[in-house]
Amino acid sequence: MRDVCIVGGGVSGLAASIFTARAGLDTLVVDGGESILARNASLENYPGFPDGVDARRYLQLTREQARNAGATFELGHVTGVEPVDESDLEQGFVLETDGGDPIEARRVIAASWSDSDYLVPLDVGRMQRGSKHFVSVDDAGRTAVDGVYAAGRLADEPHQSIVAAGHGAKVGLAVIHDSDANFYHDWVAPEGYFTGRGREVPPGCEEIDDGERRRRDERARETMLEAFADPLDEQPTMHPSVVDEE
Ligand SMILES: Cc1cc2nc3c(=O)[nH]c(=O)nc-3n(C[C@H](O)[C@H](O)[C@H](O)COP(=O)(O)OP(=O)(O)OC[C@H]3O[C@@H](n4cnc5c(N)ncnc54)[C@H](O)[C@@H]3O)c2cc1C
Repeated sequence: MRDVCIVGGGVSGLAASIFTARAGLDTLVVDGGESILARNASLENYPGFPDGVDARRYLQLTREQARNAGATFELGHVTGVEPVDESDLEQGFVLETDGGDPIEARRVIAASWSDSDYLVPLDVGRMQRGSKHFVSVDDAGRTAVDGVYAAGRLADEPHQSIVAAGHGAKVGLAVIHDSDANFYHDWVAPEGYFTGRGREVPPGCEEIDDGERRRRDERARETMLEAFADPLDEQPTMHPSVVDEE
């Protein structure tokens, strides 16, 4: 049984996985397709990239960050979710995928814009607007079913990547809060920041000395220089109806 299964490895699902995995929760991301961000031609409003970034590169780097944090990935389209024991949701959920073995997880984050059909049997509370369904959540991303959460556009957040990422992170933090993980904030602080005031380093936080700070900066710069050395060959994905007309 995994601690958390995240359905959808797009912008919000990856952000959620970085937080849950870094907090020590056994995190599986299941994705059956590609993020809608793969349709973008140039991502220019995501903070941290002054002249924008190739959206496919952003997704690659975020996946790498999730892997580094300890999340694992499985290819697959989730087709159904049901509780292990209807009368005790603490026992977790079983997720069916097309083709793969069933997955068991204590908690589920639906980050699968624009598909939530697999949640219908759980009665989480879905709203329809036009042809799209959105999942109702509280302000931390919890649905009406204990142990089931929704993140990103699927949770009716604005259709922007930074918002989806921020919401994914927030929902990841709610999952951490609701689990047994001992956690304060996911912070990396300079040596002495807490201990210099006679305080213990809080759970989830880390103090690093200057040598370690420089080592991490060196590794981070190498990763980014390599990642941005060459342009990507991949093209943005066109809207399906344009492709059909062609
Ligand atoms: C043409 C275009 C340009 C855009 N440009 C910008 C921009 O410039 N700036 C900006 O901020 N935003 C932009 N966006 C919006 C941005 O892409 C989305 O707001 C953001 O990707 C939403 O994140 P998400 O995690 O909710 O969904 P997604 O990133 O789409 O992730 C959802 C993931 O769930 C997976 N999935 C779906 N169903 C299942 C299932 N049943 N089982 C398993 N996996 C499943 C999908 O394969 C996908 O990987 C653009 C969107 C489009 C279409």
